[in-house]
Amino acid sequence: MERFDAVVIGGGAAGLGSAYRMAENGMNVLLIERGENVGEKSVYGGRIYSWVFEKYVKGFQDAPVERWVKKERLTFLDERESVSIEYSSDETCSFVAILTKFNRWLAEKVEDAGGLVVSGIKVEDVRLNPLRVVADGEEIGCDAVVIAEGVNPMLAMKLGIRSDWKPEEVAVGVKEVFKLSESEVNSRFDVESDEGVANLFVGYPVFTHGGGFIYTNRDTISVGMVVRVDSAMKNKIEVYDLAEKFRAHRDVAGFLKGGSMIEYSAHLVPEAGIKGVPDALHKDNVMIVGDTAGFVLNRGFTIRGVDFAFYSGVLAADSIKEAMDGGDAGLAGQIYERKVRDSAIIGELEKFRKALDVLENTRFFNDYTRMMVEIMRGIFDVKEESNRLYDVVMEKSRGRKIRMALDFLSAFRGL
Ligand SMILES: Cc1cc2nc3c(=O)[nH]c(=O)nc-3n(C[C@H](O)[C@H](O)[C@H](O)COP(=O)(O)OP(=O)(O)OC[C@H]3O[C@@H](n4cnc5c(N)ncnc54)[C@H](O)[C@@H]3O)c2cc1C
Repeated sequence: MERFDAVVIGGGAAGLGSAYRMAENGMNVLLIERGENVGEKSVYGGRIYSWVFEKYVKGFQDAPVERWVKKERLTFLDERESVSIEYSSDETCSFVAILTKFNRWLAEKVEDAGGLVVSGIKVEDVRLNPLRVVADGEEIGCDAVVIAEGVNPMLAMKLGIRSDWKPEEVAVGVKEVFKLSESEVNSRFDVESDEGVANLFVGYPVFTHGGGFIYTNRDTISVGMVVRVDSAMKNKIEVYDLAEKFRAHRDVAGFLKGGSMIEYSAHLVPEAGIKGVPDALHKDNVMIVGDTAGFVLNRGFTIRGVDFAFYSGVLAADSIKEAMDGGDAGLAGQIYERKVRDSAIIGELEKFRKALDVLENTRFFNDYTRMMVEIMRGIFDVKEESNRLYDVVMEKSRGRKIRMALDFLSAFRGL
């Protein structure tokens, strides 16, 4: 039986973070990915927060970054109109990347550091006492296993580490990539070649838990919709139909004009914040990381999944090393539990616990979005007479001022 210090299951950001860190530390690590090539199963919106890669990945300056995000835009849409808030700065903390390419690049870093990456093989089982991973009909022995299988936690469930997601705890997202020229991307989004835009959308066409996104790549743009599974079921929404409606909206269609769709994908994303993180993140020396552990934070205007995934992988790797260096490799799971609970991942998810209640409130996705658009229409509609801001706001908020004040106070506190 072949033997490794650790086996990592899954070649997304979480698994790659773990394998890279272990390989860098001179450990004998094997990463197994079921996709034919690492990265090909990776689906996300488009933006990655850079801090964790700057901190842990040597040579990060050579990563396949499409553009650094210099413009953040939040757009409220109704059927025909929109209101946008834009923040523009030369300072940046995030970049747009094509995750498939980015994860492939990370896999090369793992191999350069001495880790073994095997793709096209699905791990069938993880067995305890003694610890073994079963893949391709063979057993592989190891001191620790890191399960980084993503949002479908088949192995983690089998081991009883976590339960499956409830419909209100996950969203389904579709993403399409449109080909344009680099100069078209620059002119349509009013940016230079290395500058990117992250544009999130609230309201039309979903008007409930979910929204749209556009991210600018170098010469393509990523466009998509996300909707929480329970809302999609309750309202009989097909996310594919939503994506089509979203694309056709006048404030989205203009960005895509003449572009050809070159890629289409769909995927689930954890949406339960801290409530989606199981009480225990390990069983014996098997640890769960990334989406499998529920490490995604959605605040409505930012979504953090990839940086938390990579970081949790690093923490698992450091726990295994610490346990081995201490002479008892079997303690890795317990050390990981402590490290994650003390880390910014749980810190951030706890800090934004109340964001879940805010995002639960569908009035933000519907009533208040429509109201914002109507107020703007009211003040910019100039005929012979025009409207005072005060009068427009009073009229549009009639009968709901107290409820609105309470809702906005909760958003102010929670987000
Ligand atoms: C529509 C959408 C938009 C998003 N937008 C953003 C965004 O803009 N920014 C952001 O930071 N996050 C975003 N996210 C979240 C982000 O994509 C995830 O949090 C992150 O990619 C999780 O990484 P992971 O490594 O845990 O899982 P994954 O990337 O899903 O990797 C899991 C890997 O494990 C492999 N695997 C599974 N089972 C097995 C097995 N039995 N054997 C071998 N291999 C296996 C899979 O093939 C896969 O490659 C978005 C998600 C979605 C769906």
